[in-house]
Amino acid sequence: MIEALPSTGVPAGQVLAELQELRTADLPTHGGRLFAYVYDPDVDGLDELARAAYAISAHVNGLDPTAFPSLLAMENALVTSAARLLGAGPGTTAPDVVGSVTSGGTESLILAVKAARDAHPEITEPRLVVPSTAHAAFAKAAHYLRVALDVVPVGPDLRADSVAMAAAIRPETVLVAASAPSYAHGVVDPITAIAAAAAERGVRFHVDACFGGWVLPYLRRLGAELPEFDFGVPGVTSISVDLHKYAYAPKGVSVLLHRDAGLRMPQFFAYADWPGYTMVNPVISSTRSGGPIAAAVATLRHLGDDGYLRLAGKTRDAVGVLADAVEATDGVRLFAPPETTVVCLTTTDGVDLFVLADELAARGWHTQPQLAYAELPATIHLTVTAAVGATAAEFAKDLAAAVSATRDRGPIDLPPALLEAAGALTPAMVTPELIEGLAAGLGLGDNIAGSMASVNSLLNIAPAPLREALLAGFLSLLQRPTW
Ligand SMILES: *Cc1c(COP(=O)(O)O)cnc(C)c1O
Repeated sequence: MIEALPSTGVPAGQVLAELQELRTADLPTHGGRLFAYVYDPDVDGLDELARAAYAISAHVNGLDPTAFPSLLAMENALVTSAARLLGAGPGTTAPDVVGSVTSGGTESLILAVKAARDAHPEITEPRLVVPSTAHAAFAKAAHYLRVALDVVPVGPDLRADSVAMAAAIRPETVLVAASAPSYAHGVVDPITAIAAAAAERGVRFHVDACFGGWVLPYLRRLGAELPEFDFGVPGVTSISVDLHKYAYAPKGVSVLLHRDAGLRMPQFFAYADWPGYTMVNPVISSTRSGGPIAAAVATLRHLGDDGYLRLAGKTRDAVGVLADAVEATDGVRLFAPPETTVVCLTTTDGVDLFVLADELAARGWHTQPQLAYAELPATIHLTVTAAVGATAAEFAKDLAAAVSATRDRGPIDLPPALLEAAGALTPAMVTPELIEGLAAGLGLGDNIAGSMASVNSLLNIAPAPLREALLAGFLSLLQRPTW
């Protein structure tokens, strides 16, 4: 426990020591054994560089680019590099691309939807068409912006069904979106076909390359046969790419690109009808730190194009080693083709997937379980980054041992009383008191990251609205004052 406002101030050295101590409870952000949340290039000195750059600009305010031209220069530099990497710029078919730096993928997507919505004030009930594998942030954007969401089931290959997507476009549709690649499975949607369908109807088409936008171009340069997904594809009107993913920048930075300045215009918010300063914001935040932006610039400049190519090669090789390990192990199988930087697996012949995730965690491999959805079974997701190059060879042995331990433990057996209670539960019944009872019943303490099998098993049998209510309830239980 840490007290944020002690009655008398604490010396700087002690404060830092306390923060370091708190960090020891976290999952390891380095070492190539955490397959979600963090992106580790395993490059000596990069952390120190990013931190120093962050410090230089931490107190600069992105609210007003005329007051802090350093920030404007850095943002324009990031946008230029992202645009060039994604098929835009002088001499290409997309010479007029513009962009904004946002705080993350979610903000980029919310703004892409906002720009599309506000480009059509005459459409009173705007709609957004996405494949069922699109990132949850689209649902959040639709919810925040009161845009109706049309979710189109993907095909058996886990890719967006371009014919069904085209058929889902209505007169009220303001935006169509697809992924390059999808987060859950790491497969690239048929961008060219969907772009053509959207263009034919005069509808904007956003490519969500938040996850893979900074690595797919390098994988293609290394010879991977991946479909086109960037501004070279006619009909693509905007693309998002997170720099805090495969550009390996510290958290808090993403880029949203539009094919031209006219398309971006409705993204902005300007307000002059109050007694304070005239306000114009390109993104959701108004006051924002220059720290993440400077850290991203430093990271890009230090790694350079050749550095990213080398890191993509390491990542590709690590994906191959992990995928081979899955294929060689009885009781698990690849669920999606490992064509980008994701290894997605599921279990076979009765091996409990959620117990397996815990057994992998017990062996130091922190993966991301994904619950069953529609016809898709539960899966384990591994986001592979360059740091995994150093650890991938150890995975096969531990995977085999974890599967064997999982068989020994047998599947999770939730208490019948709990199952019965859960079966009768509706979202409206999920109160703070009920959540406290559930947490106690499942034996959830403070540190639950490595023993999630019962929680996941319970969530896995719940319909999505109940899952959502339970998750919100658990979060609310965690976010409490520490009187
Ligand atoms: C991570 C991700 C997002 C959301 O990005 P955040 O930075 O977590 O807000 C959106 N789309 C895809 C495909 C992603 O992988």
